Amino acid sequence: MLLDYGRTNVLRDEEGRQALHCISCSACLNVCPVYSRTGGHAYGSVYPGPIGAILTPQLVGIENASSLPFASSLCGACYEVCPVKIDIPTVLLHLRNRAVIPVAARREGSVMLLEAWVFGNRRRFALAQRIGRLAQRPLVRGGMIRRLPPPLAAWTRSRDLRPVAAESFRDWWKRERS
Ligand code: SF4
Repeated sequence: MLLDYGRTNVLRDEEGRQALHCISCSACLNVCPVYSRTGGHAYGSVYPGPIGAILTPQLVGIENASSLPFASSLCGACYEVCPVKIDIPTVLLHLRNRAVIPVAARREGSVMLLEAWVFGNRRRFALAQRIGRLAQRPLVRGGMIRRLPPPLAAWTRSRDLRPVAAESFRDWWKRERS
């Protein structure tokens, strides 16, 4: 029996099969803004970073890793540095089209909409910063948040979270320049 761990399925996909050219050099991981913030555990696979976001859903089935193709800003830095020129952004878009978005991903989409609403207005953003500073007080240990309560607990299961700064740049500017 030949065990290929899903690679035959990857080979069938004319767009996605280029992921098999990967030589595991990790160059795309080092330049990825998403990977540098989330860390490797967030990808739930032995293949983290941009290459993991396109290879894992193809190996395990898009229905089992449908959020991974969305774990990218599509900045294209991975494609720029890849020595074997895997067009990761194009494959990401291809897989997004194939993804069946489960409930969890829809929930993430709602959170993103809420964030966009907060970030889209200066007063709302300043208020959110003030609330964040107050809410984080009991959680900060040694300058970092080591554990978030549910429903955000998963974020700190494998990484620490940097707390909201004690003073925003706007406040600093006002204090220094007025
Ligand atoms: S840069 Fe290219 S070859 Fe290197 S790990 Fe990423 S996808 Fe693979």
